[in-house]
Amino acid sequence: MASLSLQHIDKIYDNNVQAVYDFNMEINDGEFIVLVGPSGCGKSTTLRMVAGLEDISNGKLFIDGKDCTQLPAKDRDIAMVFQNYALYGHMTIYENMAFSLMLAKEDKYVIHEKVMAAAEILGLTQQLNKKPNQLSGGQRQRVAMGRAIVRNPKVFLFDEPLSNLDAKLRGSTRREIKLLHKRLGTTMIYVTHDQTEALTLADRIVCMSMGHVQQIGTPLELYDHPKNLFVASFIGLPPMNLYNLKKEDGKFYVEGIETKIPARVADAVNKSDKNEFVLGIRPEDIHPGNDFVLDVNLNENTGHFTLTHGKLFGKTSCAKFRDWQRFKVGDKVGVSFDEERVHLFDAETTEAII
Ligand code: ADP
Repeated sequence: MASLSLQHIDKIYDNNVQAVYDFNMEINDGEFIVLVGPSGCGKSTTLRMVAGLEDISNGKLFIDGKDCTQLPAKDRDIAMVFQNYALYGHMTIYENMAFSLMLAKEDKYVIHEKVMAAAEILGLTQQLNKKPNQLSGGQRQRVAMGRAIVRNPKVFLFDEPLSNLDAKLRGSTRREIKLLHKRLGTTMIYVTHDQTEALTLADRIVCMSMGHVQQIGTPLELYDHPKNLFVASFIGLPPMNLYNLKKEDGKFYVEGIETKIPARVADAVNKSDKNEFVLGIRPEDIHPGNDFVLDVNLNENTGHFTLTHGKLFGKTSCAKFRDWQRFKVGDKVGVSFDEERVHLFDAETTEAII
């Protein structure tokens, strides 16, 4: 187990593409960290720099207080699990899991003990004599994890490990990874573009965009208090509804329509020296009420709640209602917002105000 310190880390590739800007983070021993963001935002590059698979252009990386910035990958005591499993097709599952220990010339009884223990943890005991192509995608991903576990590394790195699995397997393998973390207590850094994986797995999430860290915090911190518009719209599914809000001559205009706004928002707007804002409301924070009108044009039923789409302030919006509150297409539904949960952003800086 290990703590990590990433200090002012940049990555500039040889073609002068800067993939990561000034990444700073202290990772505690045993933490589960998820790097999340859209494709190309620099997540894998960051992970690969921690692994030692990419040079660090500027900045420093410490593992357990030791400067590892220049340390070769093989000496970092880190294990990485990839999206494509990277298993050896001609070897059995047992041999795949034992391989790194054999290379390290570990005693064969010790190897056997470690492989059997990892197989037990991962439910692979019955599969050890098979070849990778005889296993399902989920089982192969577990072998890839088994290979990492037998090494008893200080840190586990996962690069989009669930991307190749179908939706159901993704869910169950995700839970296995979480249980594995609980069981082993090892520091884990996990890369994904999937905000659900980030919210469900992480102790802390690092949300990135275009090479820059946007926010670091617990899943609920990012969900309830996104620091800026990027985090607000990236975390949460369906995404937060966003509306332009303008203050002019003491009146409020949402999407160009003069309207009243929630008192808490009006207070914040009145205190600000700015005139242009973005109002944010998550679908589940819209309730039947008397303040605004949602013009329903589509319902998506999920079984225990309905996603009701329609125009609110003239803009296509989504509200999440319980099924017993279902409204029909064409209904003009009176709605109110959960005041405490309405978000307000500075339109210019995109930073959160409330
Ligand atoms: P993510 O993992 O978030 O999808 P990456 O870290 O893979 O993003 O990539 C971040 C940026 O760096 C992208 O613009 C990508 O094109 C660029 N990039 C990644 N690898 C290389 C490379 N080997 N050489 C040059 N540019 C690269």
